[in-house]
Amino acid sequence: MTPAVEFRGVSVHFGATQALAPLDLSVARGETLALLGPSGSGKSTALKALAGFLRPSAGRVLLDGQDVTDLPPHRRGLGVVVQSYALFPHQRVADNVAFGLKARKTRRADVTRRVGEVLELVGMSEYARRYPRELSGGQQQRVALARALAIRPNVLLLDEPLSALDAALREDMVAELLRLRAELPDTTLIYVTHDQSEALALADRIAVLRDSRLVELGPCEQLYRRPATEFTASFLGAAN
Ligand code: ADP
Ligand code: MG
Repeated sequence: MTPAVEFRGVSVHFGATQALAPLDLSVARGETLALLGPSGSGKSTALKALAGFLRPSAGRVLLDGQDVTDLPPHRRGLGVVVQSYALFPHQRVADNVAFGLKARKTRRADVTRRVGEVLELVGMSEYARRYPRELSGGQQQRVALARALAIRPNVLLLDEPLSALDAALREDMVAELLRLRAELPDTTLIYVTHDQSEALALADRIAVLRDSRLVELGPCEQLYRRPATEFTASFLGAAN
């Protein structure tokens, strides 16, 4: 079957810095893949190359078998939540969520219906008229998620979506994301994190990055029980 997402030899340089060594990686439709690694290991760079926020120095990015390397971000049809992707502060929650739909010239009645659906999906229906500053960090994160989901993306990219939240809230959000996954079984999810417990809780497979390189890839259980590298063992293995 054609992978939903494919990196073919994708590398990224910033001047003399190699932020991502040539990456080959396929993600199946409906799969949740965690990109796991310490800070600076190249996770965000890989995600940005996929989203189109930066151009790879070499290699190709494919979605559903289509080469999208030369397409701008808004033509890739992805849902993206990154930490720096803050909500628009001067817009109400509903308008924030509607943003991508309006950009696609969706009819007003359809926008209203879809905004209602995704706010319900993330448990934020009652906050549609609020402004971002009136919400907690966790609530803002849910709204960002709703905004990404509004366009019905086949692929959802989340870059450390919980890192700004405190530990208790992070646990709640992991549970929310698991529920969301169950409700959107065809959506492919790529989840960037430096937190091994989030990766183990959410992912089908984990790709471990270290120093801009993919060092190991496999089902959670396998990486946890039988890590192939010292690094994976020390980073997420059962031996910890
Ligand atoms: P991670 O998301 O895993 O923390 P990044 O992908 O952000 O790591 O960064 C990988 C490497 O690339 C790091 O060494 C980082 O300093 C470097 N890097 C990332 N973005 C830039 C940039 N815009 N300019 C220069 N170097 C960068
Ligand atoms: Mg990052």
